[in-house]
Amino acid sequence: MGKTLFWIVAFLGGLLATRVLAQLAAKKMHNDSLPKQANTPRVSETEAMVRCAHCGVHLPGSEAITKEGMSFCSQAHASLGPRAPR
Ligand SMILES: [Zn+2]
Repeated sequence: MGKTLFWIVAFLGGLLATRVLAQLAAKKMHNDSLPKQANTPRVSETEAMVRCAHCGVHLPGSEAITKEGMSFCSQAHASLGPRAPR
C-alpha cells in the first residue's frame, strides 16, 4: 500500500514539475516574442481603403493612383481630376 502511494505521489509530482516547467518555458517564450508582435501592427494586414476623387469608388490604397494629394481609381479619372460631390 505504501509503495503504491509513493508511486502515485511520485507520478503526480513529476506531472506537476513538468507542468510548471512547461508554463515557465511558455511564459519566457511569450515574453521574448511579445516585443516582436508589438513591432508588427495588425494594420498592415488590412489595407487602408481610399476613395476615388472623381467617381467616389473605394479601392485599396496600393491600387489607387495618387495625384496632387488625391486618390483616383484609374489613370483616366486621375487625368479627369476631382469631381465636386453632389
Ligand atoms: Zn474613379
